[in-house]
Amino acid sequence: MPVEPWDAKAAFKAQHPGHKPPLARCRSCDARIWWGETRTGARCPYDVTDEGYTNTSHFATCPHAQQHTKRAPVPTRRGAADPDVDDDGRVRIRVRG
Ligand SMILES: [Zn+2]
Repeated sequence: MPVEPWDAKAAFKAQHPGHKPPLARCRSCDARIWWGETRTGARCPYDVTDEGYTNTSHFATCPHAQQHTKRAPVPTRRGAADPDVDDDGRVRIRVRG
């Protein structure tokens, strides 16, 4: 049985009715991203194109994704505007809000 494609945009809409997903930029490649959640509820950056928000994980498209696989020491959390994302415990990326 095939797994349904994850619709991060629909999930955000359902959780935050009337709100637009927060936009940010990738600290590594400066790409436009928006913050959503994965199927498992982990925070995850998704690509933003000229067409708008996409359901494509930025971890899959970031040209510097390999750098993110290095595990950094856990920094002090300073709030949701500067999140640390741990994607299934493998990828960590910091993005300015
Ligand atoms: Zn990037």
